[in-house]
Amino acid sequence: MAKRKFDLGDFQLEVKRSRTGLGLFTLGPIAKGSCVVEYTGRLISESEVYASRSKYLFEVSAKKTIDGRGKGNLARYVNHSCRPNCEAEIWRGRVFVMARRAIKAGEELAYNYGADYFTRYIQPKGCRCLKCSPEGA
Ligand SMILES: [Zn+2]
Repeated sequence: MAKRKFDLGDFQLEVKRSRTGLGLFTLGPIAKGSCVVEYTGRLISESEVYASRSKYLFEVSAKKTIDGRGKGNLARYVNHSCRPNCEAEIWRGRVFVMARRAIKAGEELAYNYGADYFTRYIQPKGCRCLKCSPEGA
């Protein structure tokens, strides 16, 4: 059977120290368009979102949010980048991190967290992604 877009690839990923705290790295190369890792967690209600202090909320729709704070959720270690090698895609209420270009072995994975998150949490402290940092330019 043909491989479908959201079939998870069997990639060896590793959590380790990156320039911005912990990050998720790939040990091997990843082809463009691959489904790299799923953002997993507990589905929480609107009222729970309101009361939650989790830093790992991922809104999948107006009424559904995933709380990905569990350690089993490798995708929570994927950092923000303004020039990312991945993108998060929502499919049937699930969130997948997809490779938006070919990724080399050893690269850190990153996706763009989006304008809302950026303005609220990243901009005030200054973005530390490779694109925004002086040494990355
Ligand atoms: Zn940036």
